[in-house]
Amino acid sequence: MTCAISGVILSATKRTAAFVADNRLDNLFAGGRMLCDGAMGTILLDRGISMNRCYDELNLLQPATVAAIHSEYLHAGAEIIETNTFGGNAFRLERHGLRGKVREINLAGVRIARQCVAQIGKELGTNAYVAGAIGPLGILFEPRDQSQLDKARSAFAEQVRALAEGGHGVGVDLLMIETMTSLVEASEAIGAARQVAPRLRLVVMMTVGEDGNCLDGSSAEAAAARLTDLGADAVGCNCSTGPASVLRALGRMRTATHLPLAAMPNAGLPNVVDGRADYFVSPTEMASCARSLFQAGASLVGGCCGTTPAHTQAMTLAMRNR
Ligand SMILES: [Zn+2]
Repeated sequence: MTCAISGVILSATKRTAAFVADNRLDNLFAGGRMLCDGAMGTILLDRGISMNRCYDELNLLQPATVAAIHSEYLHAGAEIIETNTFGGNAFRLERHGLRGKVREINLAGVRIARQCVAQIGKELGTNAYVAGAIGPLGILFEPRDQSQLDKARSAFAEQVRALAEGGHGVGVDLLMIETMTSLVEASEAIGAARQVAPRLRLVVMMTVGEDGNCLDGSSAEAAAARLTDLGADAVGCNCSTGPASVLRALGRMRTATHLPLAAMPNAGLPNVVDGRADYFVSPTEMASCARSLFQAGASLVGGCCGTTPAHTQAMTLAMRNR
């Protein structure tokens, strides 16, 4: 018990020391505020990429398409962009016959995001950060199946290794484990991240239902406490059923953790008409939601499914006028 606690303190100290020169990111994790980008997947869909395709593979096949979206978010004021690697793990890639390309796809995702940050940064005089997006594996978890848990951890570790490859300035600046529906799965993802890239800051976000609870039945408070114990650097909610549910859950998480909070709601649940998904939360409403999320204690705010660079731009203006 004592050893475990010492280990946590030691690893936290190491991480702090590693990032001492990076003031803006340090500031965020000390309670400052930053704006993250919005959706990638729903924009790709909107731009005609069939949902049957592997969106992560676009990093290899259509890097310009991915780069264009990153660039639009950076122009809109995003201070952190997420790599197009949400499904870049062995389990999801295997469904597309791409099991052997985990490293290649994640490396390409990081390279594209880095190039956009450098290029747009030069143009605008800004300095944004790249977060490595890590989504769920897409499997049903059986908490007592140790072999499944081991495979999950090793799949997360493989993805984290690629996202972090090259270290400072080459690999990602931080990691975002997102859209988690199960604390068991989140635990494996955090364990892998801590093991493989202990120096990278780690944001972990759960998805919640209308009632503000996680989809595995855990309360928002229990999730925040558990993710804190597991070693996240910031915790929160993303996607979910729109800004209102995320705002409710965030308020409850605030009571259960001292860590910075992250909130990246979707633009509501979509109406599907003729195979097309329409999201109803407008950029103006999202900007008002961003204000509420910051007031509720969020440090990092962004968007998820259905949000666009127009939403990010409105949120940027809201932040500047605060
Ligand atoms: Zn989403």
